[in-house]
Amino acid sequence: MTARVAIIGAGIAGFAAGLACRQLDIEFQLFDAAADPLAGGAAITLWPNALRALSELGIGDLGSGVAANAITQGGIATDWGAVLYQLPLDWMRKQYGCFPVCVRRDVLLLAMYEALSRPKIAHARVQTVLEQTDGVMVEGSHGRFAYDAAVIADGIHSQARHHIHPVQPRPTRYTAWRGMAQGPVVDPATMWEYWGEGVRFGYASISPHATYWFATVNHRLLGGQDASWDVARRLFAGFPAPVRACIAATPDADVLRHRVQDLPPGCPMAQGRMVLMGDAAHAITPNLGFGGALAMEDAATWLYVVRNVGISPAAFRIYAAQRRRRVREMAYATRQFGDVMQWQNKGIAHMRNTVFRIAAPIAGRLLWRRLLGSTGRP
Ligand SMILES: Cc1cc2nc3c(=O)[nH]c(=O)nc-3n(C[C@H](O)[C@H](O)[C@H](O)COP(=O)(O)OP(=O)(O)OC[C@H]3O[C@@H](n4cnc5c(N)ncnc54)[C@H](O)[C@@H]3O)c2cc1C
Repeated sequence: MTARVAIIGAGIAGFAAGLACRQLDIEFQLFDAAADPLAGGAAITLWPNALRALSELGIGDLGSGVAANAITQGGIATDWGAVLYQLPLDWMRKQYGCFPVCVRRDVLLLAMYEALSRPKIAHARVQTVLEQTDGVMVEGSHGRFAYDAAVIADGIHSQARHHIHPVQPRPTRYTAWRGMAQGPVVDPATMWEYWGEGVRFGYASISPHATYWFATVNHRLLGGQDASWDVARRLFAGFPAPVRACIAATPDADVLRHRVQDLPPGCPMAQGRMVLMGDAAHAITPNLGFGGALAMEDAATWLYVVRNVGISPAAFRIYAAQRRRRVREMAYATRQFGDVMQWQNKGIAHMRNTVFRIAAPIAGRLLWRRLLGSTGRP
């Protein structure tokens, strides 16, 4: 008899888990608390590790599709435009077979949903997932239903995680805003990030007519963590022209605000017949743009293990063991990079830029190998 798996959460992690089930011919049921889980969000950058995972999950054409724009040139610069580092994108393509891409979140989710042949998503808030002798019991606003196994993928504030690991997200000392600028405001196929003192701005071209951008600002500069975009945007008035163009081409009402937080590393990624994927297991700070990619890697690793070992608690333990080190390293790396990138003291920020300009070209490829590799799969 085919196994039946409950997938809690229909975000990137939940859909990636669904794609893994589809490859394994396992029946699955998605649950989501939101009325329209496919809608909303801005865009995300998918580095080659994410594109490789998507390809293993059965949607390898995303990188070359019209929806996703390959990034062929970019880097990091100061807030007055002096280049500190050029991203080794040609090297990345040679090494990993593709450039990174930037894609709107709703377009990505729709591509995953279509690849799953538009499955029914049960509109329900799941409260608990309890282990039973031969399976799991999923309880929530939809009632109580038994499944053979469950994938917990309900994001950073996961309710279902609570029984396994009752951990709360940790705050950071900065807030992020994200937007989509309309019109040809930056060079196509580019992504740049500008570092100031306690402020940062990054953008990635999505198409010749749309640019995704983010801005992060220390709470100390904002006078508190609840400041509005109207207050934050003034800090970018002296930034280089593409930054000002992105801001000017985005209606204030469309700018999204995110409290930047993460989960302390160490959440178990499996217990009995339950596995955790995505932000529910390892929400990381968005500083390097790897959170969604880790969710895709989770599902690709789970696919690989279940294909070889079968769907069993033993397979889930192997999955957890294969992912433990990778997600822990990424949690540390993204948090620490974020702290450094948000340094606010003028002298220290200047020193950071000088060291980074010298060290990054030397150590950069080693670091990129670490960020893009060691995924837990051969
Ligand atoms: C500012 C910012 C920039 C980022 N940039 C990038 C980037 O460039 N590249 C990248 O790879 N990642 C990036 N990320 C991270 C990425 O967006 C997340 O890691 C990813 O979206 C997590 O997906 P998820 O499916 O695990 O969780 P979510 O997207 O949070 O999805 C969880 C789903 O579960 C549902 N849900 C919640 N509770 C329940 C419940 N009780 N019952 C049922 N359903 C429930 C929710 O409605 C939601 O649909 C960024 C994040 C932020 C905040």
